[in-house]
Amino acid sequence: MPPKVDREKCDGCKAEKESLCEQVCPGDLMHLGEDQKAFCRMPRDCWDCMSCIKACPKGALETRIPYQLGYHVARLIPMMGTNTITWTCIDLNGKVERYQYRNRGSDD
Ligand code: SF4
Ligand code: SF4
Repeated sequence: MPPKVDREKCDGCKAEKESLCEQVCPGDLMHLGEDQKAFCRMPRDCWDCMSCIKACPKGALETRIPYQLGYHVARLIPMMGTNTITWTCIDLNGKVERYQYRNRGSDD
């Protein structure tokens, strides 16, 4: 499923030459529209690698968990830290759980 873009939060990565989600997508799927908001231009080609979601500095992207696992209201939202990544998982009933892992390469 392609990432869902929060259009209020997305600022088009104004500070960058090319938006971060465009830079990191291995399939070259993320793109800025004329309104400078990101979107996935070929949703069927997205394989949920979550690179764009992790890279977004505004927290404007989140993934929808496929319906086979949790229907569309369920979502996973990563928050990148210096040495950790925190995943917020919101299930079908709105229950929120958080998991924190050390990033690969962190040395503490
Ligand atoms: S990385 Fe985030 S803020 Fe930047 S263009 Fe993409 S969605 Fe918008
Ligand atoms: S989840 Fe991965 S493949 Fe899909 S749009 Fe984002 S970076 Fe590209």
